[in-house]
Amino acid sequence: MFYLLVMGVALGYYLDNPFIGICAVLAGYIGWHWLQLYRLNQWLEDGQSSLLPRTLGIWGSVFTQTQRLQQRSIKNQQQLQGVINRIQDSTAALKDAVMMVDSTGALEFWNQAAEGYLGLRHPVDLGQPITNLIRTPEFKSYFEQADYREPLVIKSPVNPQLSLQFNITLFGRRDRLILVHDITRLKQLEQMRKDFVANVSHELRTPLTVISGYVETMQMGADMLPPRWARMLQQMNSQSHRMGNLIKDLLMLSQLETSQAKDEQSIDVEAMLQSIETDARALSNGRHQVNLVHADKQRLTGNYNEIRSAFSNLVFNAVKYTPDGGSINIEWRQTRHGGCMSVKDNGIGIAAHHVPRLTERFYRADPSRSIETGGTGLGLAIVKHVLLHHQGELKIESEEGKGSTFSCVFPLKRMTDGVADATSDSEQ
Ligand code: ADP
Repeated sequence: MFYLLVMGVALGYYLDNPFIGICAVLAGYIGWHWLQLYRLNQWLEDGQSSLLPRTLGIWGSVFTQTQRLQQRSIKNQQQLQGVINRIQDSTAALKDAVMMVDSTGALEFWNQAAEGYLGLRHPVDLGQPITNLIRTPEFKSYFEQADYREPLVIKSPVNPQLSLQFNITLFGRRDRLILVHDITRLKQLEQMRKDFVANVSHELRTPLTVISGYVETMQMGADMLPPRWARMLQQMNSQSHRMGNLIKDLLMLSQLETSQAKDEQSIDVEAMLQSIETDARALSNGRHQVNLVHADKQRLTGNYNEIRSAFSNLVFNAVKYTPDGGSINIEWRQTRHGGCMSVKDNGIGIAAHHVPRLTERFYRADPSRSIETGGTGLGLAIVKHVLLHHQGELKIESEEGKGSTFSCVFPLKRMTDGVADATSDSEQ
């Protein structure tokens, strides 16, 4: 500024008017600033494609810093793009399908596997609601219910041979990450295992019937045999009965596993429990007090044989695991949430650490006692599967040495008004 002023004064002396000289120099100075601003603006408007021109003074420094900033940002951008490309390459290489859906349910991103499993097409499906693209009703209700603790297993909409498992995770502002895993092989293996158990049980039934038949016939003439033989025949008879029960339970279990509840009807639970009470008294043979203490009139919609099998398993277990002189109380009540059938005994009870595992096949809290009572170890597994078929739940409360309460809880939608049903029964 000082040199400019000196130049202005010098020019003024030369023109005989210092004021004009200073104004001319200042105008030149402002003009130069405008020119630099114009060049910067031009460069920004052109998309910063060329290099910024070199210049002097403060503008020279501004141009250099801006250029440096630009280069740094280009480098960052390239690095980010590299990361995005790597993520895209790795998700594209994944065998599982990955999809990202925004909070409105519109599809934002998917990988190649998703195209194969679900038939998504690039770019037409971008931004489309996912429920329009995967139209299976189970998927629609699973996606909309927003409770993703359990995965969903459905057939692929484009290839019914494929079984797909969907896992959804919420992130951000109710955005969803959907992972789809092909579990066809696992399903096939599971099916093979179920078929194998069912076939073996079925094939064992015929030879066993023949053996027990012969043993029973031989027992009829046991008085002609030495006492040692009679004892052996008695053992053979009881073991073949045990094996028969085991096969019956295995078959029932594999049937429950492979099929959904069918032949549903409105069940008169009170009448069913009265009949089970009679059977339990026969099994107890006067050793216990077996009582149906309360039964509401409400009926239950379900498969008669399955429900009867589940209820009698619980009642007979109570008889088996309650010492002589004990009492067994059976109840059927309508609650605010549905229906509840409970069996309460004051028998041997179960230690707390066994309770979560009781419904596993062949799990026994007290193996020696179970075998002594002729138990197969499959009873509670059957109960659990029957209840699954009826959207019910098995609840177990027990205290070792004091007794147990086993409750079957059914949802409200399975309950029907007993009076209305009885009228419609009689009208029919
Ligand atoms: P099991 O044929 O051995 O009775 P279950 O599946 O019916 O097989 O029962 C599993 C185990 O649960 C039994 O072996 C027994 O230890 C225990 N259990 C079942 N019911 C009762 C009960 N009412 N009281 C005590 N223990 C029980």
